Amino acid sequence: MATEPTSSLSPDTAALSPAMRQYRAAKDAYPDALLFFRMGDFYELFYEDAITASRELQLTLTARDKAKSVPMCGVPYHAAEGYLQRLLRKGYRVAICEQMEDPRLAKTVVRREVTRVLTPGTAIDPSLGAEQSNYLASVHVVGSGSASACGLALLDLSTGEFRATEFTGSTAKAQLADELGRMRPVELLFASTGSLLAGDRGSLRFAQESKADDEEQAWLDGIRTRTPLDDWIFSADHALPFLRNHFRVHSLDGLGLGGHETAAIASGALLHYMQATKQGGLEHVDALRFYERSSCLELDAVSVRNLELVEPLFSGENVQTTLFYTLDACCTPMGKRLLRAALLRPSCDLAEIEARLNAVAEAAGNLRLREELRRAMDGVLDLERLMGRVALDSAGPREVLAVAATLACLPGLAKITTALESARWKMLADGFDTLEDLHHLIAKTIADEPPVSLSDGGVIRAGVDAELDELRQLSHSGRQALAAIEERERERTGITSLKVRFNNVFGYYIEVTKANTKAVPADYERKQTLVNAERFTTPELKEYETKILTAQERSGEIERRIFAHLRRQLLDAAGRMRETARRVAEIDLLSCFAHLAALHGWVRPAVEKSGALEFIGARHPVVERRLVESGTGRFVPNSVHLDADVGPSILLITGPNMGGKSTYLRQAALLVIMAQCGCFVPAEQMQLGLIDRIYTRIGASDNVARGRSTFMVEMTETAAILNTATNRSLVLLDEMGRGTATYDGLSLAWATVEYLHNHIGARTLFATHYHELTLLAEKLERLKNLRVTVKETAGGIVFLHSVESGPANKSYGIEVARLAGLPANVIARAREVLKLHERAENQQVQESSPERAAPLQMTMFTPLSQRIVDRVAEVDIDDLTPREALNLLAELQKELKG
Ligand code: ATP
Repeated sequence: MATEPTSSLSPDTAALSPAMRQYRAAKDAYPDALLFFRMGDFYELFYEDAITASRELQLTLTARDKAKSVPMCGVPYHAAEGYLQRLLRKGYRVAICEQMEDPRLAKTVVRREVTRVLTPGTAIDPSLGAEQSNYLASVHVVGSGSASACGLALLDLSTGEFRATEFTGSTAKAQLADELGRMRPVELLFASTGSLLAGDRGSLRFAQESKADDEEQAWLDGIRTRTPLDDWIFSADHALPFLRNHFRVHSLDGLGLGGHETAAIASGALLHYMQATKQGGLEHVDALRFYERSSCLELDAVSVRNLELVEPLFSGENVQTTLFYTLDACCTPMGKRLLRAALLRPSCDLAEIEARLNAVAEAAGNLRLREELRRAMDGVLDLERLMGRVALDSAGPREVLAVAATLACLPGLAKITTALESARWKMLADGFDTLEDLHHLIAKTIADEPPVSLSDGGVIRAGVDAELDELRQLSHSGRQALAAIEERERERTGITSLKVRFNNVFGYYIEVTKANTKAVPADYERKQTLVNAERFTTPELKEYETKILTAQERSGEIERRIFAHLRRQLLDAAGRMRETARRVAEIDLLSCFAHLAALHGWVRPAVEKSGALEFIGARHPVVERRLVESGTGRFVPNSVHLDADVGPSILLITGPNMGGKSTYLRQAALLVIMAQCGCFVPAEQMQLGLIDRIYTRIGASDNVARGRSTFMVEMTETAAILNTATNRSLVLLDEMGRGTATYDGLSLAWATVEYLHNHIGARTLFATHYHELTLLAEKLERLKNLRVTVKETAGGIVFLHSVESGPANKSYGIEVARLAGLPANVIARAREVLKLHERAENQQVQESSPERAAPLQMTMFTPLSQRIVDRVAEVDIDDLTPREALNLLAELQKELKG
């Protein structure tokens, strides 16, 4: 979100005061940012920036000048952090214009400069969750149609994670938009007149495309802060050398970017932006990883959302519905982030999956080592983010000490890891850099309990620097001397309340209450008069003051120098820390999986390159946990058998609402994702021929805001599935065709099932209320009917949630509506209408004239159906024969047409 331009309130520069001229110059240089202009103890905002900030931050709007023509608001500089974060979270950019000299020393107007520009992608939000990432994205799009190429770079400044990818061909732009939807960057950089353009009303669109695809558009629209940059920043001549210089490499091959020029340009432009916004300290961004989506189980952004992998379906809902929440037993923030990343990118590499499963199996079977591992990670803090703060120079002494505390845990962790034997554990243990030298370095430099801020002094341990020790001694003895002076002067003057004190403005002074001023000796010089007291100094006091203050100033300098040197040494080791943090994250993830397996009795999936997808006694991990924790029931295990080559490839699930169809579908996808992440699964047995991609068409996504009807969303998603799924994919279709007229929907669902069966062969779970579809089992050899079961009792229906072979013979919709609390007379009338409908249908079947059925049934779904209901109310349906019922419907239809 760019700030509003400062047009209408723009001042006449010549008429401005010197300070406001400075303001104007700074604002002109950063027109898109809210300018925080430092004036004394406040950051002030003026003109339209002030109006925006007062609205967003609920600040009082005042005026600077007498004529009240310059709106102004401000925040105290010491409390600015909170206000800045609030603006950044709302998508604003902020430029900080600081006073560059001490106002007391300035001869004319204080010199001011913009020292930093904060944007959502370049500032670090302290409230960012441990598992969350804060990505700044940069895209470079060239060409159109099949010659399209899209480069994407992503940087999380808080950890230094920097990666890039590239999409080519006719689907490149769709893939780019989808990846943006999955990674959810907070800010997007792009060339201002390149192929990705800022369209009307601040929306983004791809240039040269005849029409923007809605889904693509939606993901682009989801990014709140869009930052167009000059085109030259995205030129190969500028961006590539910039990238090479940052990483000090001669060729892009060294970064794995050879042959991926758009990705490299996007990366170089991103680094340029970091420099242009004065984000000093990018030392921790010391590696760039090129990744390809094809090496992972592909999950498009729609599926990630539908399956609630990392976030609940509707924002603001309880996070407990997510798979991430259910699986997160990680001990460290690095482990949590790796778990989240793994769920978004499960592996497709059999060797990798097997290696993880072996490691999990070993740790799951060794309670002692597993618990020791987890205990060893207890004190491990967020090493990556702490290093991010060190690099950005926002780490104080306590943060550096926290790095040391984390490093202290590493030798123990490495030792336990060595005791495990499977190849992956060995790989993690071999060459595990426990960074003891750095731990030692910090421990011997920083005092045990340092103050929060370096400027408070006392940060550097005694014994590190001889001069510092001496100065401290001096200032210590100076203080003792002051105490002695106080004692002596009390005796000399007889004023027992006499005090020797210090403040920042007046330095050291002797304070005497007004009542005692008569007893003050002649050699006291008056310094300050207060209401109740007088303050004095003496030549002796002045001498000590100079000694102490000089010693303090000098020791402050020495402490800053030592601390800066320590910071430099830590940053030089940033690469080693990153590698160790990576290993800790993986150890944490594997031991988390092992912990879950042992705790819940989950089993190891048998994974093969290809073959069946089979679960026996499987449970939905999230629903099961909810049922267990709330004590409201027990999850009923179910089985699935889907074959890639022989046997059923499509399972068609029918049954009542609330029967458990959606749960059954989602459970299959979640277990596949867990297995391909290397996690054990909640089932008695699971066999899995690797899945290359999961497609979901689940529930009704309301996209009215994006200008698409529910049905349009559904069909767009279905089209994507039919156009791109392969026989190695897993397809979940829930309630397809429900958003349109019954027979249109039914026909589309019918044709979709046939197409999946005859042309794609993807393993498919298809849940539907169209009972007519169950007839397909007679026609399609690899389609199998399943039904969720219910028990009818005198008091109503009981959901058994068990999935059995065969089609459902009843839908129980009205029963479920009754349970939902619809008024009794509506339920009774609905039963009558249903009965009429069923009788008429029986008659049609008997007369085998299906072509007549459609128009009659359609009538029931027209908006006029209320009239039919009213008309039906006039007759007693139970008294009608099927023939009479059919006639009544035909009569009604004629009447309605008339
Ligand atoms: P609809 O057709 O109305 O969408 P549905 O058949 O898809 O319904 P679900 O939404 O899957 O039904 O399940 C309804 C509820 O039943 C779930 O929220 C869950 O609490 C419970 N449930 C589903 N499956 C099981 C199961 N196997 N064991 C226990 N409870 C279950």
